[in-house]
Amino acid sequence: MKKLEKAYNPENFRKQAHEMVDMLADYLEDSAQSKNKVITYKKPEDQLDFWRNYDPTTSDFFKDVIENSIHIHNPKYIGHQVAAPVPITAIASMMTSILNNGMAIYEMGSTATALEKIIADKFAEKLGFPESSDGFLTSGGTLANMTALLAARQEKSEQDVWKHGNEANYAIMVSEQAHYCVDRAARIMGFGEKGIIKIPTNTNFEMETSILESYYQKAQEENLKVIAIVGSACSTSTGSYDDLNKLADFAQEKNIWFHVDGAHGGAAVFSKKYKHLLNGIERADSVIIDLHKMMMTPALATIVMFQNKKHSYQTFHQKAQYLWEKHEDEDWFNLAKRTFECTKYMMSVKFMSIVKEHGFCLFEEYIDKTHDTTLAFSNYIKEHSDFEIATDPKSNIICFALKNDLDIQEHNRVHSEIRQKLVEDGEFYIVQTTLNGKVYLRLTIMNPFTELHHLKTLLEKIQTI
Ligand SMILES: *Cc1c(COP(=O)(O)O)cnc(C)c1O
Repeated sequence: MKKLEKAYNPENFRKQAHEMVDMLADYLEDSAQSKNKVITYKKPEDQLDFWRNYDPTTSDFFKDVIENSIHIHNPKYIGHQVAAPVPITAIASMMTSILNNGMAIYEMGSTATALEKIIADKFAEKLGFPESSDGFLTSGGTLANMTALLAARQEKSEQDVWKHGNEANYAIMVSEQAHYCVDRAARIMGFGEKGIIKIPTNTNFEMETSILESYYQKAQEENLKVIAIVGSACSTSTGSYDDLNKLADFAQEKNIWFHVDGAHGGAAVFSKKYKHLLNGIERADSVIIDLHKMMMTPALATIVMFQNKKHSYQTFHQKAQYLWEKHEDEDWFNLAKRTFECTKYMMSVKFMSIVKEHGFCLFEEYIDKTHDTTLAFSNYIKEHSDFEIATDPKSNIICFALKNDLDIQEHNRVHSEIRQKLVEDGEFYIVQTTLNGKVYLRLTIMNPFTELHHLKTLLEKIQTI
């Protein structure tokens, strides 16, 4: 067989795919029982050497990729905020990789485009957004925040920024605990360092709203034009939710854009028990929620929602003769008019594969379980152990440290070393963060099968170290 014919041979694919499914099913079974380590740590140089010297013709490439990766489906994975995808999404991923519809215009993704609209309508309902709202999917929270803030600038600038560039010193107000990508978006838009006004937080790491007015006044004195305020729902480090109603009031008073970065915590709108954390989100001009964090979908997939769909069309009002005839038309079905991407994944199919199989209520069960476990762990620490928490957890993120009398430098050194030893040991995977100069160990309970007993074992392990 010629190489190309072999590469596209359906029978080869059938055989290989069946083998892969068997391997992955075994993998999921072993992971669920923590049969293997969460991570087999190699130093970056050693990893590079391993793959440089790797001979794929004599080795099992897929198996070796699995073995040398971090294992999110192991309940002892409690690190960064990445979903353990529901297995059905992997089947959808395989299918969409073959279909590979480009998504930029309607014909190049007709089904996935319609599904995107249905997903956006569902989120609008959950967010309490009006009929006039709309949204779409994009490649990750970083890009989604950027997309929303570009719309904010277009709407709140006096001149047409898309045409003339920045004609004023625009600025954005955001909590100092916000994800770094908000800062990055402001700088990409050319606002510079002064264009990102970081508002200090209270003891629970929520934006201190009593000082908004003074920060706003100071910005005006410095000839900055504040165009938006960004609420974190929740923040990345500690999972703290800003008071969205207070931010909405402030935005309304100043006639600025109100954006909510709900990359992690926005999914709580699906939970009756926890949606109160997001009170006020219904007043946002734009909201983003990562489906690949708290919505069990593989990376990348993020929804951007606009209170007023008109705003989503203003961001990039650009001509592209080869894509569409009339650039002014607000056609919901030509997605590239509103997305940063031209070609993008058929994300909606992956997400809808979950809904088709399990219904939207699966998300509620997932959010309640992961949040409840985090609360139980927090109570356990408070009642029983030699540890302390940084702040009461609101979501499934918790930061804690060993109680000690060390000076801060020594405290930080010890905790960083504990974290490093845990990674090298590999039974668990957790991360760390620094709050007010103090290092904390940080967990995000992403796996719904992480139970309190796993976490108790982790504490024992830390004490042994
Ligand atoms: C993770 C996160 C982001 C970044 O999203 P990506 O999908 O990783 O690009 C932005 N904001 C918050 C609050 C986050 O937790």
